[in-house]
Amino acid sequence: MSVAWRKVILAPVSAFSLAWMLALSSANAQAPKNLAGKEAVACGAMVASSHSLATQAGLKILKAGGNAFDAAVAVQFALNVVEPMMSGIGGGAFFLAYEAKTRKVFVIDAREFAPKSALPGMFLDKAKKPIPFATRHTSGIAVGVPGTLKGLALLHSKLGSMPWAELLTPALRLSQKGLAAGRTLGRYAALSREKVCSKEAGGVFCPGDSPLEAGGWLVQPALAKTLEAIQRKKDTALYEGEIARAIVEAVQAKGGSMTLEDLKAYKPEVRPPLWGRYRNYRVASVGPPGGGLAVLEALGILESADFKSIPIRSAKKYHLLLEALRLVFADRSAFMGDPAFVGVPVRGLLDDNYLAGRHALIRMDKANDSVHPGKPAHSGETTHFVVADASGNIACVTSTIEQPFGSGIYLKKYGFFLNNELTDFDATPGGPNEPGPCKRPTSAMAPTLVLERGLPVLALGSPGGPTIIASVLQVLIHRLGYGRGLKDAIEEPRVFTSAYPSFSHEGGVPEGALERLRALGHVPNPMPTEIGNVQAIERDPKWHRYTGACDSTREGMAAGLSRLDDALPDAKERRGR
Ligand code: GLU
Repeated sequence: MSVAWRKVILAPVSAFSLAWMLALSSANAQAPKNLAGKEAVACGAMVASSHSLATQAGLKILKAGGNAFDAAVAVQFALNVVEPMMSGIGGGAFFLAYEAKTRKVFVIDAREFAPKSALPGMFLDKAKKPIPFATRHTSGIAVGVPGTLKGLALLHSKLGSMPWAELLTPALRLSQKGLAAGRTLGRYAALSREKVCSKEAGGVFCPGDSPLEAGGWLVQPALAKTLEAIQRKKDTALYEGEIARAIVEAVQAKGGSMTLEDLKAYKPEVRPPLWGRYRNYRVASVGPPGGGLAVLEALGILESADFKSIPIRSAKKYHLLLEALRLVFADRSAFMGDPAFVGVPVRGLLDDNYLAGRHALIRMDKANDSVHPGKPAHSGETTHFVVADASGNIACVTSTIEQPFGSGIYLKKYGFFLNNELTDFDATPGGPNEPGPCKRPTSAMAPTLVLERGLPVLALGSPGGPTIIASVLQVLIHRLGYGRGLKDAIEEPRVFTSAYPSFSHEGGVPEGALERLRALGHVPNPMPTEIGNVQAIERDPKWHRYTGACDSTREGMAAGLSRLDDALPDAKERRGR
């Protein structure tokens, strides 16, 4: 499922959301599946991203002797150019890094935070009612202080090996020379006319007054200049000086209150990963404010299910998933928020007894029609890509500007969109995810790493707002619970729900299973839709062989380097430096 869906699913079906739902369902139904390049096997290194040109940018850096972290930086900058509606320097990200040398896993949390002036009731109107999502998502109040660039700079200074400026070269070339817009960009541009045909963005994204179509030529000279400035000045190019002033001006012109001090105050956080378990595997993901806690809770609730004895497309399997997801989403809204502001009962939610208690609430003869948060013990549109290198390092990254084309606020002179991430806060105050000064909104983003006997065997993640939790969970279950091959585990149709009784599903869920699910009390959405866009890399520890796989729903490409490629003279030379 695409990023645009997240609020649509949760919101009551307003005219706005219904229009989007119909538009996207029919667009999805028509989108041809492009399977070329979606799977690759190689012994040297691997990149899997949602765009072939971004994957190639990563490979270039790996070939030049860069490590997985260098390549991840190059992939993210390239994505900003080739998939500008999903992520970029105007947004935020979570990086999950495995450093082979130390066998350490850690997280860089580059999630956007709210300006210092943010108040719990900032999304309420005068009558104390939530401002409708259709209005608030393009307002300056929705824009969070961006984190991605600072996160990239931190990743590079901590673990990178190549000079920073070189990592921007592939993205810079793409923004100067241009590229043919992909089908995903064409699809989202058509659905986001107001954003792409604005006075500021129109010159780039709305040629001849109609949204850029697939195959149309996309050149971004303003973004190229910004990338050059970032080559020279690293993150200060954006957080101080003329670009910072332009950000603040654009946000304030749209009713927001972000200041230069807010930009200066932004700091990405290095955090330990959140550890969970699934059978013989240890699973590392991104704890609050990221979405890994929800994934691990759902995995824990489902750990005892013997999936091998449950047909993969049966009502029984979908029922189990839907029931577990509803229990987890009830807990998510009751307990999960920015840990700097609220005490998230992480241990309580992952406690074996608690998980068994949640599992016991699942009845096989009927959907649970009154799902409530549990009582855990208290103790104290987006993109995903993965890069793995010849030394065994892994960078697993989910990054976003929230809705497609973010807030729609485009800095014409500098060539990028600003996020609307603060719509991830609850509009109605009172809960753990209410807005607050310098607070990060709860995210569903969950780059996740699976380890077996201490070594990584699988890294994955997805975009899709709240559906991310369901996508990561289901690929883990298809791969680890059912033992399917990686590509099949990704392609297997997924389901999503966050509350009783409705759920969405991808094409391929058998009509007989939907019928049975209706009889149990679940209400399937009338039309299938895409859910998430998973990219993953698997490592065979015995043969040191990588398999990369990409979802078929975007222009993703997995590609690797054999040891031969990796041993190119220039790579050796560089490593020797
Ligand atoms: N804002 C979303 C989140 O952090 C990510 C954007 C999306 O994939 O919809 O959960």
